[in-house]
Amino acid sequence: MDLRTQKILNELNKRYPRPKPSLDFKTPFELLIATILSAQCTDVRVNLVTKELFKVANTPEKILKIGEKKLMDYIKPTGFYRAKTHSIMGCAKFILENFGGKVPGTLEELQKLPGVGRKTASVVLIHAFGISAFPVDRHVLRVANRLGLAKSNDATETDLQLRKNIPEKFWIRTHLQLVYHGRSLCRPKPKCEECPLLPHCPEGKKRTTGRAQSRLSEIPPWRQRG
Ligand code: SF4
Repeated sequence: MDLRTQKILNELNKRYPRPKPSLDFKTPFELLIATILSAQCTDVRVNLVTKELFKVANTPEKILKIGEKKLMDYIKPTGFYRAKTHSIMGCAKFILENFGGKVPGTLEELQKLPGVGRKTASVVLIHAFGISAFPVDRHVLRVANRLGLAKSNDATETDLQLRKNIPEKFWIRTHLQLVYHGRSLCRPKPKCEECPLLPHCPEGKKRTTGRAQSRLSEIPPWRQRG
C-alpha cells in the first residue's frame, strides 16, 4: 500500500472508527433480501419494510409460500417492486432447488442467483459470512475514484483496483467507511472544504482550487493586495 493510500485510510479510521452495516438482518437469507431491496432505496426504508416482511417470510420456503402478490404488497415502498419481486422469488426458488435451502457462501455461486450481481453478492459475503470482498455501490464508486484509490467508471473494475491497492485485511472496513463518507461529505455535490481527506484528494484539490480562484476573481485587485 502506498503512503498516500495509508494516509487516506488513517483519516477514514479517525472519522469513522467503528463503521457498521446499516441493513437489519439476522440470517444470510434476510441479508440477501434486504440487499436486493436496497437498490435505489434508502437503508432506513428497507429496514422498515423488512421489519414487517420478515415477520411472515424470512426463508426461501416462506417467501414462495406467501407468493408474488403478497410479496409485492410488502416491498412496494422500496420502489422497482416488480423487478425486485421477480428477483426475490427467483432467488428463493433457486436456493431451494440448487443449494438445499441455504444461501451459498462464494462469490461465484451467489452471482448465479437471479438478480444478484457482484455488488449484492459481495455484501452478502462480507456481512453474512465474514469473507473479505469489496462491494462497490454508487457511493464507493464515486468516493474511491475522487480520492484516486481507483480509476474507472465501471464498478467491477473499481472493485478489482481497490482489492489490488488496499490490503485484504482492510477491505470490509474501508468499504463501509467509503459508503459512510459518500453519504456524509463526499455526496454527488461534495463538501470538500469540510473534508479531512482534502489534503490527500486530487478531486477535492481541483474543486477547491477552482472555487478559491473564482472567489479571488470576484474581489477587486486593490482588496486582494490589501
Ligand atoms: Fe470527496 Fe471532496 Fe473529500 Fe475529496 S475532498 S473525498 S472530493 S468531499
